[in-house]
Amino acid sequence: MTTATTTTTEAATTATSEATTAETAASTATFTADPATHRVLTGDRPTGLLHLGHYFGTLRNRVRLQNQGVEMFVVIADYQVITDRDIADRLAEHTENLVLDYLAAGLDPDRATIFAHSAVPALNQLLLPFLSLVSVAELNRNPTVKDEIAHSRQSAVNGLMFTYPVHQAADILFCKANLVPVGQDQLPHLEVARTVARRFNERYPHVDGGAVFPAPQALLSDAPLLLGTDGGKMSKSRGNAIPLGATEDETARAIRGARTDADRRIDYDPVNRPEVSGLLLLAALCQDRAPEEIAEEIGDRGAAALKRTVTDSVNEHLRPLRTRRAELATDRGHLRQVLRDGAERANAIADATLDEVRAVMGAI
Ligand code: ATP
Ligand code: MG
Repeated sequence: MTTATTTTTEAATTATSEATTAETAASTATFTADPATHRVLTGDRPTGLLHLGHYFGTLRNRVRLQNQGVEMFVVIADYQVITDRDIADRLAEHTENLVLDYLAAGLDPDRATIFAHSAVPALNQLLLPFLSLVSVAELNRNPTVKDEIAHSRQSAVNGLMFTYPVHQAADILFCKANLVPVGQDQLPHLEVARTVARRFNERYPHVDGGAVFPAPQALLSDAPLLLGTDGGKMSKSRGNAIPLGATEDETARAIRGARTDADRRIDYDPVNRPEVSGLLLLAALCQDRAPEEIAEEIGDRGAAALKRTVTDSVNEHLRPLRTRRAELATDRGHLRQVLRDGAERANAIADATLDEVRAVMGAI
């Protein structure tokens, strides 16, 4: 996979996303959720440690919404692990580590339902009627799936890879969530969830004419696509991520190895200088300042000075989270209990939704 192809595929994703953003996505800058009318579902694949892309892309938004009083569901999408690899390697460890990162970032298991979708059978059964609502051509067109296939090291693409956006619709709709804080790569999947909800409601109305499912809306943060140390989307599976749980030394090493360019003058120009701009954005998010201002301060001191600034900013910003994380890591039993409690709550809701779905479908 060459960098040029990656960039083109990501540009295509961006173009599609921009076309759909106005209708389907709210942005954090202007959005304040009314806790009484919103229910949130978001989640992650248990494929590795959460990183700064998750944190600034969606995790901070989840914590903010939870603290505003919005009901929160967080799915650990374990079946999605086997979309682009043969087996779910070290699944229990990755799953517990996700819970650890969530709690360290401020999710509260008394207010947020945290569960693995494999532990909720009725959720997965929704996949069958939902698959009947989308065409193969629609599944084939999904730009995020295409990008993930391009990055996967599999010799053949499996059926779960093409259908996982529909599975994700089941994750969202089983609890009738209407707000989904995500990164930009998820916008095509949100379109699938909206399509599934709309077509299901049209095909199977309640006897009173009401709709079974809401149309979920994406909530994009102000960092919907954070770049990794190689200049591509920061990703658990691409070896380009800075994990939230990394030590300060590991963080410094990863940032020191980040790709930049030969121009000593540092300026914020995401189109022409994506790598340098990605690093500036990271420092800016950590310092809660504008990237242009940080670029101005560094001036013509070059990439080494930029990397020192980014390292200090990231380590300082994450210090309280990492301290909490280390404390929580001493009690793995607690992490497993959080998952059991979450699964119990999620199962009750999924059973009720499946009963409703089967009733309107004529009890299939
Ligand atoms: P993998 O490489 O295994 O797919 P990932 O890093 O892409 O992992 P996911 O678990 O697929 O992470 O994504 C979880 C959530 O985090 C999604 O809402 C996704 O949009 C968001 N997210 C992931 N990476 C980024 C990023 N670099 N910038 C912004 N948001 C991101
Ligand atoms: Mg991903």
